[in-house]
Amino acid sequence: MTQAARKIRLVLELRRAGVTDTRVLSAIERVPRELFVPEPFQDQAYENTALPIACSQTISQPLIVGLMTQLLEPGKRLRVLEIGTGSGYQTAVLCQLFRRVYTIERHRDLLRNAEAMLARLKCHNVTTLCGDGTRGWPEQAPFPRILVTAAAPEMPARLADQLDDGGIMIVPVGSSLTDQWIYKVTRVDGGFREERMSQVRFVPLVAGAVPEAS
Ligand code: SAH
Repeated sequence: MTQAARKIRLVLELRRAGVTDTRVLSAIERVPRELFVPEPFQDQAYENTALPIACSQTISQPLIVGLMTQLLEPGKRLRVLEIGTGSGYQTAVLCQLFRRVYTIERHRDLLRNAEAMLARLKCHNVTTLCGDGTRGWPEQAPFPRILVTAAAPEMPARLADQLDDGGIMIVPVGSSLTDQWIYKVTRVDGGFREERMSQVRFVPLVAGAVPEAS
């Protein structure tokens, strides 16, 4: 089967599994996931599965990318903050759907690789930062949308505080691999509404100093 045929099969699978927003599906269709997947896993680039990347991290499962992006209620006039660039795959999907994407990654090596791939795909509406994403990006806040792609041990209040009024944050929360849930947090009337969505397994969100580049 060709990569193109595998990609169509994946998009149909995502639709059956609940990714019904056609803008999200066509963004996933436009982004070549094989660019973000390491060489040994090329044949699995369009399987609905998370895969290992450098620095002991993972590129997220396509279904989770689809569901989280859909929950984010994307819009071409909106800016979005992403925490955990990783491979840059989710970032590239966001670039198709938002006016500008701000993305933070703590591993410099991962960020460099992601930047190269995003440039190759001509994703010019992205601004990157190497640092601790748990602090958010105060100079660019507030944001109408925030997406966290690593599991926070508890609800990250500092990030929620960088939401615009009416803004939405999608974040996996849970300290153990077997008890993580995606939450949709909406800032309303000065407070926050939290909705628990699906169960997930993400690598942890790690606060504090950025690791040395290798
Ligand atoms: N969306 C990415 C997921 C990568 S895994 C993809 O599909 O490729 C989560 C990423 O979050 C990892 O790369 C990890 O290094 C990063 N991360 C964890 N804690 C972080 C923090 N405090 N600030 C920024 N990035 C962080």
